[in-house]
Amino acid sequence: MVDLKGQYAAIKNVVDSSIQEIIDNTTFVNGPKVHEFQKNLENYLGVKHVIPCANGTDALQIAMMGLGLEQGDEVITADFTFAATVEVIALLKLTPVLVDVDPETFNIDIEAVKKAITPKTKAIVPVHLFGQCANMEALMDLAKQHNLYVIEDNAQGIGADYTYADGTKAKSGTIGHVASTSFFPSKNLGCYGDGGAIFTNDDDLAHTIRGIVNHGMYERYHHDVVGVNSRLDSIQAAVLDAKLPKLDSYNNARRNAARKYNAAFKDVKNIITPKTVNGCEGICDTCNCHVFHQYTLKVKNVDRDALVKHLNENGIPCGVYYPIPLHAQKAYRDTRYNEADFKVTNQLIKEVISLPMHTELEDDQIDFITKTVKDFIANN
Ligand SMILES: *Cc1c(COP(=O)(O)O)cnc(C)c1O
Repeated sequence: MVDLKGQYAAIKNVVDSSIQEIIDNTTFVNGPKVHEFQKNLENYLGVKHVIPCANGTDALQIAMMGLGLEQGDEVITADFTFAATVEVIALLKLTPVLVDVDPETFNIDIEAVKKAITPKTKAIVPVHLFGQCANMEALMDLAKQHNLYVIEDNAQGIGADYTYADGTKAKSGTIGHVASTSFFPSKNLGCYGDGGAIFTNDDDLAHTIRGIVNHGMYERYHHDVVGVNSRLDSIQAAVLDAKLPKLDSYNNARRNAARKYNAAFKDVKNIITPKTVNGCEGICDTCNCHVFHQYTLKVKNVDRDALVKHLNENGIPCGVYYPIPLHAQKAYRDTRYNEADFKVTNQLIKEVISLPMHTELEDDQIDFITKTVKDFIANN
C-alpha cells in the first residue's frame, strides 16, 4: 500500500545526517530540532501554534482535554472513520455521538450533525477522511450558532487546502478551534516511528495544551492540571523536518497517481471513483483540495471481498477502510442509535476498496493494478 523505502532513498543523505547529529548531541528529547520543525510547520500551515506530541491519538485526546470538555458532554463525530477518533472521546468519559457521512466525499454529513445537536453537545469532530476536508464552513456556522467547539481530526489531510465559498483558501487543520494530526509512517507526512501534533490559532488554548502535554506543568514541578506525557522525540522531528519541504510534491505525486487511476476507471460502470467537492471531478490538476491519503473506490454490484482476494492473489495489496462502522463496534454500541440513521456507512462498508497509494507509484504499476481490477469486473 505504501513504499517508504523508495521515498527514503531520495532523502537518505539529509535524514541520515540529521539523525546522526541528534545522536552526537544527545538532544533526544525536546531538542532544538523539535522546535525547528514546529516553527517550520507553523509557517507551512499558516497557523499560530503547533504543539508536537507523541502520536495522532494523543493529539486528539489532548485537544479535547485542552478545551476543558467534561464527563457527559456530547461530542459528535463521524461513524465512518478510524476508531481513534471515537476512542478518545469515550476514554475521557465524554459521550460520543456518531453520525452518518456523505456518500460522495465520505465526510461527516452536515444534516446528520444538525439532527444530533442537543443542549449537551459541546463539540464536533470532523475527520478529513482519505485526504479531503469536511465541509468546514457549514460546521463552523453550526458551531457558532450552538456555541460548540470544532476539533479537526487532520490525521489524513495534512497539506490539503480547504476552499471557502468566496474562493479563499486555508490549510486543513487551521480552520476549527483546534486540530490534531498524526505522523505515523504511512500518513502523508510520516516519521520513522510515532509522532503527532496539535494545531491552534488560539493563544490561551495553546498555552493550556503546552502544559497538558508536559504533566500539567506550566512552571517546573508545579502541576496545575492533570496532564499527560506526550512528546515528539528529536529523531522523529529530524525526519519530519527533512520531509516537510517535500510535502507538497509528495501530495502532488499522490494526486498524479489518483488522476491516472481515475482515467483508467472512467468508463467502468461498476466503479465509482473518488469525488472532490471543488467540482474538479476528482482530477484535481488545478487545486489542492484532495491529498489522497487513500485512493478509495466504491464498487457497485461487484463481490468486493472476492475482488480483494483476486488482487491479493495477483500480488496487489489493497485495503478496506473501514469494514465495520463504529456504531456497530462492540466498544461503541449504544442503544440510542438507530440503524436507519446510518444508511450511508452501512452501505459504504460493503462497497469501499482502497488501492495502493503513495509517492513512488510508477505508471506500469498503476497499469497493472487497474488492468487487474478491470479484468476481474469484466469476468464476474
Ligand atoms: C491515523 C489516524 C489517527 C491516529 O493516529 P496515530 O498516530 O496512529 O495515533 C487518528 N485519526 C485518524 C482519522 C487517523 O487516520
